[in-house]
Amino acid sequence: MPVPASPRTRVVLLGATGSIGENTLRVIAAHPDKLELVAIAARSNWQKLAAIAAEFRVPHVGLFDNDAYLSAKSSGAFAPGTKLVGGLSGLTELSRLPEADTVLVAVVGTTGLQPALAAIEAGKTLALASKEILVLAGKFVMAAAKKRGVKLFPVDSEHNAVFQCVEGHPAAGVSRIILTASGGAFRDWPAEKLSHVTPADALKHPNWSMGPKITVDSATLANKGLELIEAQQLFGLRADQCDAVIHPQSIVHCLVEFADGAMLAQLCPPSMTFPIQHALLHPHRAPGVDRPLDLKKLFSLEFRPIDETRFPMLALAKQTMRAGGIAPAIYNAANEVAVAAFLEEKIPFLAIPRIVEETLSKMPNTDPADLDTVLALDATARRTATDLLGGARTPSAL
Ligand code: NDP
Ligand code: MG
Repeated sequence: MPVPASPRTRVVLLGATGSIGENTLRVIAAHPDKLELVAIAARSNWQKLAAIAAEFRVPHVGLFDNDAYLSAKSSGAFAPGTKLVGGLSGLTELSRLPEADTVLVAVVGTTGLQPALAAIEAGKTLALASKEILVLAGKFVMAAAKKRGVKLFPVDSEHNAVFQCVEGHPAAGVSRIILTASGGAFRDWPAEKLSHVTPADALKHPNWSMGPKITVDSATLANKGLELIEAQQLFGLRADQCDAVIHPQSIVHCLVEFADGAMLAQLCPPSMTFPIQHALLHPHRAPGVDRPLDLKKLFSLEFRPIDETRFPMLALAKQTMRAGGIAPAIYNAANEVAVAAFLEEKIPFLAIPRIVEETLSKMPNTDPADLDTVLALDATARRTATDLLGGARTPSAL
């Protein structure tokens, strides 16, 4: 049955209990006249989903984890009439809800791929925070969005910044994009100290408050590597047109260089509410949730080149971009396995790039023509990386 149009943008939020999820809720709460939350999902934290559902009167709730779904169903914590769905199929069903306009995918890792593709097929606007999805299957996601004619807004701050800088400019005039990197927790650490770092050290990000996986990725600069690959996919650029620079203040989020040498930059404080609001309200602007920059206070903007010998995960990402094909997806899969093992204190910090490099060297690079082959190779890469964990264990985990 057709659902009547709404004056408000109706949002499905996948990953509602996470860091991006929380910032999205702040944006939605600040603009009740413009935004409405119609569905939320998470992996297992149904208690938090119940609180969100009550606060925002959300009629549809999804849980990926089956046990959590069953607990949520029998809990009585959701208002009568709330529709609960479970598993990946449940998340995918939420992406297709007839009464939704925009699906914001902020599920950590690549689990959101199928729901993102379902949203595109159903003609929804896609707001994409989960960078791993574009690294795994950017070619297919971008082609599907183009074919269906749906809008895709990047939520990752640097890509949202690039989007804002290039909008209205012919693509042929863009010569380079430069993403900024805070440098993560170990920006100023000497190389020899890196062999002793613990998960607690890696989780201390200087500027951003984010989920654990992306915070470790920031410390290795794999996050910037994934973002370069993401940018290449989103903006249809060659590997040599995408680069990164250290910018400790995290105020400038990107620099876009045009053919005439002019550069445009996007500036805002380091809070994800800025790109999230941009993606949800586009093309409109409204007062933000967080304070804008205060130019009455002294601040400086500093840029430095990145030493890729100290951050091999960035060099490896660039290699995979030049190689193309399945290489970026292998990089992503091996990194996810290695980061999870590091967070569980099973491997040392410096084993992360070693495992990724070895996984890449063990798998031949191909250019799969269909998504099923991509997913099969992603699974092979995860198995290969998992097999390598044994040889990289920390002494305490032996
Ligand atoms: P968090 O770890 O804070 O949150 C992850 C969210 O995803 C939680 O809601 C979690 O649910 C949910 N989730 C995890 N696995 C599944 C699953 N299998 N099915 C359904 N939901 C799942 O992550 P972030 O918010 O930091 O990051 C989310 C994504 O956004 C990542 O891809 C990240 O790279 C990207 N991103 C994040 C930024 C940030 O500032 N945080 C910046 C730019 C991009 P539960 O709580 O139940 O586990
Ligand atoms: Mg980012």
